[in-house]
Amino acid sequence: MPDATLNGHANPAEQPTTGCRDLGPARTPTHPVATAPVNGPLFSVDGFVKEFIHELNTAQGVALARSSVNDQYLALARTVKNYLMARWLDTNRKTREAKVKTVGYLSAEYLLGRQLGNALLASDLNEIADKGLELCGLDLVTLRNQEVEPGLGNGGLGRLAACFIDSLATMNVPCIGYGIRYEYGIFRQTFVDGRQVEQPDTWLALGSPWEFPHPDASVQVNFGGHTEKYRDADGKERTHWLPDWNVLGVPYNYMVPGYLNGRVNTLRLWSAQATKAFDLPTFNAGDYAQAVRAQTFAENISKVLYPEDSTPQGKELRLQQQYFFVACSLRDFIDNELEDDFDLHHLDERIILQLNDTHPVIAVPELMRILMDEKGFDWDEAWAVTTKCFAYTCHTLLPEALEVWPTELLGRLLPRHLEIIYAINEQLLEEVREAYPGDELRARRMSIIAEFPERGVRMAYLATYAATKVNGVAALHSQLLRDKVLPDFSEMWPDRFTNVTNGVTPRRFVKMANPKLSELISDTIGGGWVTDLERLRELEPFADDPDFRAQFAAAKDWNKRRLAEVLRKRDGIDLPDGHLLDVMVKRLHEYKRQSLKLLHVVSLYEQVISGKLPVDQLTPRTVVFGAKAAPGYKMAKDTIHLINRVAATVSADPRLEGRLKVAFPANYNVTLAEKLIPAADLSEQISLAGMEASGTGNMKFALNGALTIGTDDGANVEIRELVGDKHFFLFGMNEPQVAELGAKGYNPESYYEDNPQLKAALDLVLSGHFSGGDQHLFDAVVYNLLNSDRFMALADFQSYVDAQARVEERYADTDAWTRSAVLNVARSGFFSSDRSMREYIQRIWHTQPMM
Ligand SMILES: *Cc1c(COP(=O)(O)O)cnc(C)c1O
Repeated sequence: MPDATLNGHANPAEQPTTGCRDLGPARTPTHPVATAPVNGPLFSVDGFVKEFIHELNTAQGVALARSSVNDQYLALARTVKNYLMARWLDTNRKTREAKVKTVGYLSAEYLLGRQLGNALLASDLNEIADKGLELCGLDLVTLRNQEVEPGLGNGGLGRLAACFIDSLATMNVPCIGYGIRYEYGIFRQTFVDGRQVEQPDTWLALGSPWEFPHPDASVQVNFGGHTEKYRDADGKERTHWLPDWNVLGVPYNYMVPGYLNGRVNTLRLWSAQATKAFDLPTFNAGDYAQAVRAQTFAENISKVLYPEDSTPQGKELRLQQQYFFVACSLRDFIDNELEDDFDLHHLDERIILQLNDTHPVIAVPELMRILMDEKGFDWDEAWAVTTKCFAYTCHTLLPEALEVWPTELLGRLLPRHLEIIYAINEQLLEEVREAYPGDELRARRMSIIAEFPERGVRMAYLATYAATKVNGVAALHSQLLRDKVLPDFSEMWPDRFTNVTNGVTPRRFVKMANPKLSELISDTIGGGWVTDLERLRELEPFADDPDFRAQFAAAKDWNKRRLAEVLRKRDGIDLPDGHLLDVMVKRLHEYKRQSLKLLHVVSLYEQVISGKLPVDQLTPRTVVFGAKAAPGYKMAKDTIHLINRVAATVSADPRLEGRLKVAFPANYNVTLAEKLIPAADLSEQISLAGMEASGTGNMKFALNGALTIGTDDGANVEIRELVGDKHFFLFGMNEPQVAELGAKGYNPESYYEDNPQLKAALDLVLSGHFSGGDQHLFDAVVYNLLNSDRFMALADFQSYVDAQARVEERYADTDAWTRSAVLNVARSGFFSSDRSMREYIQRIWHTQPMM
């Protein structure tokens, strides 16, 4: 075991080094740094240990013998980072030199998950790290568990961004992910008496080894003030923006390593800081305390992630965040990534800016402003460039999720941008009137400016008008986007609309999260599937091989035991052996219908305790929920409370003889997903048809060998088509049926009256059985289902219960179940985010992988 001293590095000059060859870009003079060569000493266990101890001793400043697990984790992270460093600098240099088109992925959220495991996987250092740490008397798993995941996103949208940048790096495609470095990411969920209580997410508190701040490369972002017209030297009328306050954006770079390919792309997240000049007048007036408060005000911009998923709150700070990060990003790309003499008329040859939902759409008027007010373009020139540089992804069908910024607010914060938006809208309306003469209603419908309930800017319309391409995220969603959300736009510009079905990265969600299944797959068909997921098809014949099925089932069992250990330690939850593991994990939202799942559980329970169902006929089942609710979303929080009360009651009732259990581990996040999903037998994807844009959880489950019970919604449609009806439990109304029922008038009470099983379940909740006799505790949830529920849970109840009966029947036949599970894996290769990226590249971005 190495000594816990500087261990051969007492004199830094003795460090293994390749000399002072700086691999960074030539035009930035930097201090010479020793970089780990691509085939250097870190490839050996010995070299790894030296570097690790060196990091522990010099960066953490502790001896091994005295170091904490956190010290060890940080030293390990830095060791892996050092190893990737040369590749990162090399990637940057080559990309600049090649002057190729880059993807600028603009996203207000990146739900990254832990970094260490992914970095070890991408650099093939797992085995070396494992052995090296063992030599030091340490355990890799323990150190990995020390990492607090950067939770810089709410759910699917942020996780998608993280999957996409992983895929682009793996596919050798130049990409810079741009976003916000929230000091507090998504809140940590705790339960107090079954109710959600939010705790701040202090992900930076124990150190953040993965980030590289570059305060020297900060950019200034302006806000407020007014505009003025003036005539330039050529006598042309131009506009100045005279802002009245500003902040600095400090870039923090993160590595995005490709899988075993030597490429390391960059994720650049911006942190807000007060400028020196922030409040000079106040300083000068001698009010030091007020000036410091003003500094805090500036830094608020990147302080916290808004925890609303799918329901924007229209807060001023949120608009500040949006403009802050896109202004930083455009400035950064134009000033720092392009050559000094680059002709911006050709900007589209060097970047395509992908708008991840409407959050970054203010980038459209910002680019117009830069080109016109700063670079002297006239309107038509600027518009011609701008419309080639943006593409827009819509993520929703819910009308309340479409952002509309009040003009009053937008004009106060960004007066120049509002002027530009008005001018864009005038041009749009002119085009519409030209294409549809006399159709003034159409022009009014398509206006970027909404008049009711207040004057506001419809960001989705602005994005759609400006973008080269607009895409939905699953086939059904893209169809509904064209037909229902943006029908006038799709009629006028049909070629602009396209679909790219979402995907997930197989590196994190299969290879890393499910090592046993991955090993079995690689032993059976070779390792190529990790970057070519359609090759999972080669597993199909093995579905009929009893030996393979036994190994497949053994991997699932191993995952369940691993999960049991995690939940026992993390939440004090006991997972029984031999149960069907039925999992519903996703944000808590009415449209996702956690309450429908809960009604099924309550119904099973009610049937047993009322004697209608002999307990020995109950399929042993554990239902696991995982879900955060937006802190201000009352119905969602009440639903969480009810789930927890049902879980406690059902799990403790001896009449169930342990055959039905409900578990709700708190704080569902990527780290927990990586343990839960590989263990699941049944995947719950039960949104009302036409409401879930795509879903990506559904894909993760299928790829890990869970069978889906689901509606004909989002990407479920495509999952079912691919895996086959026999291996998917479909239930509920389809979208046209939902629309029809909606038009006719949904009458929830009729389902209650006509369905004794449903009535009994709801009555049991109303009786106070789960609330210590309090008959009104859950009135809001129950009466919503009974009276007004926009998402028609009761209409699909019977169909859902019937589908669950088919689940139980299949599960009773272990071979048939495992066969279906194998086929789910074999036929889900389409859902790799590599495939999604290929489609964006070919149909939207027209970029090239680098050789
Ligand atoms: C994949 C993922 C999601 C998205 O799940 P859906 O079921 O598609 O809503 C949300 N949160 C986390 C942590 C995820 O990993």
